[in-house]
Amino acid sequence: MGVVSTMTTSREQHAGQVGRPALSFEFFPPRQPEGERLFWNTLEALIPYQPDFVSITCGAGGSRQAGSGELVRQVHERTGLYTVAHLTCVGASRATLTDMLRFYQECGIPAVLALRGDPPRGEPPGALERGAFRYAEPFVAFIRESFPDFRLGVAAYPEGHPETSDLVRDQCHFQRKVEAGADFAVTQFFFENEVYFRFVASCRKQGVQVPIYPGIMPVTDYKQIKRLSELCGSALPGWLTARYEEIRDDPERMLQTGVELAVEQCRDLLRRGAPGLHFFTLNQSGAVPRILRELGSEFYSA
Ligand SMILES: Cc1cc2nc3c(=O)[nH]c(=O)nc-3n(C[C@H](O)[C@H](O)[C@H](O)COP(=O)(O)OP(=O)(O)OC[C@H]3O[C@@H](n4cnc5c(N)ncnc54)[C@H](O)[C@@H]3O)c2cc1C
Repeated sequence: MGVVSTMTTSREQHAGQVGRPALSFEFFPPRQPEGERLFWNTLEALIPYQPDFVSITCGAGGSRQAGSGELVRQVHERTGLYTVAHLTCVGASRATLTDMLRFYQECGIPAVLALRGDPPRGEPPGALERGAFRYAEPFVAFIRESFPDFRLGVAAYPEGHPETSDLVRDQCHFQRKVEAGADFAVTQFFFENEVYFRFVASCRKQGVQVPIYPGIMPVTDYKQIKRLSELCGSALPGWLTARYEEIRDDPERMLQTGVELAVEQCRDLLRRGAPGLHFFTLNQSGAVPRILRELGSEFYSA
């Protein structure tokens, strides 16, 4: 804890401070007091890199949205950072979502990442049908119309969303979601940059103009990433698996390797024109500051 205000918030500008690619960090709301300390320490360690925004995830179906709402408020108030609140619509009524959006508006939160979300595990089937919005697209349209001042972000899946095997249709849904009123998109993590550039090129061809920030997941805990990759539909390439299989029981080497690979990936993304980097920090301060240091002043400096 103890994060002090270091930046001013601007509603207009969250992406790409003059002269450098955009930089953003994603956090999740901690559940335990120990996790809370880690959360604030990590945030504090990353503030010197002057992120264009930080984003806070939320649970599905309104289950933990109250918790993340309070955290979003605190981060915004205590740091002055441009704070993006994730908001899922799955299973939620229009009234619940309106309350949440009103809360963010009153707190001065400038932007929302509008998501469908997944039905909470263990809930009876039908959560998707129970909510006011079946997909992110109508949710985006609703926010755009009812809360026009928010900047709106949406999720993108360069390898396709795990629920669909039809990439063309999935991309079409993405495009419609952007057309409903999104200002920017953040991708799911991926490890082959070609996947990202192919997706972006294809979106551009279809007329999607908004910045599509690549989501970066440093692999510092192989088991955890394996699990997340399965959940999120992000392929773990053979070369990456081979590299980690040898060191999977050595946390220090995994951290070192995760940093090296992420630096390589980020450098390639930025040199080839990605508009910025969005780091999934997992609330851990071990990797991301090292990656940014090693990327060096060519791109970012603290
Ligand atoms: C950067 C990022 C941040 C995230 N943050 C969170 C978070 O904070 N909390 C959380 O719970 N989850 C989060 N997620 C995960 C996300 O909620 C899940 O992937 C969820 O399954 C889909 O949400 P979406 O907004 O992408 O949905 P949608 O865009 O609605 O897409 C969901 C699926 O429905 C399909 N689809 C869309 N429209 C239609 C249509 N009209 N007809 C038929 N099919 C359609 C799509 O092709 C896709 O397969 C995040 C994902 C990313 C990439």
